[in-house]
Amino acid sequence: MNLILLGPPGAGKGTQAKRLEQAHGLVQLATGDMLRAETASGSGLGRRIKAVMDSGALVSDEIVIEVIETRIAGSDAKNGVILDGFPRTIPQAEALDAMLARHELKLDRVILMEVDEAALIDRLAGRFSCRSCGASYHERYNRPKQGGRCDVCGAFEFVYRPDDKPEAVARRFAVYREQTAPILPYYEAKGILSRIDGMAEIDEVTRQIEAVIAR
Ligand code: ADP
Ligand code: ADP
Ligand code: ZN
Repeated sequence: MNLILLGPPGAGKGTQAKRLEQAHGLVQLATGDMLRAETASGSGLGRRIKAVMDSGALVSDEIVIEVIETRIAGSDAKNGVILDGFPRTIPQAEALDAMLARHELKLDRVILMEVDEAALIDRLAGRFSCRSCGASYHERYNRPKQGGRCDVCGAFEFVYRPDDKPEAVARRFAVYREQTAPILPYYEAKGILSRIDGMAEIDEVTRQIEAVIAR
């Protein structure tokens, strides 16, 4: 099974992708995480990518497509993937179709997580994540169960994302509206788009996603 989790910044894509990995043995392919790993490498390319990401703009289609293709071609993708944060533009959606076809893979569902902007602002302002495994938490809605220790990997260090600052958040919402929302009709036309209520609490959102993929 190959899925796309689609939604604006802060919709809960990463949170739900981690749960789907656990429950279904799928692999989460999060372009944001992959790009952050590249920026951490300290390469020249990494520095240029970091400047773009911190501003809230999109990294070029060319770079992102290359990053994702390497992973889709990899052996761990064979049991199915959850695409989180990709595609984000029409050219990326088209490139995805072409690469899936090349690897004889099929896209089963695109799940749109709908959340209103006020709730997104609140979510991004309180978001932090595990420094080692990237698991995403929230100061109020999703704290680690044992204070200060990552539920997933047990690490003790957490980080806030530079692009969760208000200026970058405003830019990311505009980018979502202008460049990413236009891919919805693309998937609607293929008859594989499902909308879910991303405003619900985390467990309820998981139930809605499970209902969609059980259909
Ligand atoms: P969020 O989950 O909050 O939407 P991501 O971690 O997916 O954020 O993405 C963070 C940043 O990484 C984006 O604002 C953008 O700069 C870059 N990025 C991630 N995925 C893509 C993509 N598919 N195309 C272009 N840029 C991307
Ligand atoms: P995305 O990957 O779409 O940018 P995340 O999964 O990182 O979103 O979630 C953004 C923030 O909101 C995180 O701090 C996360 O813990 C929190 N969060 C995720 N889902 C919900 C939810 N259904 N209700 C409240 N907070 C949520
Ligand atoms: Zn962790």
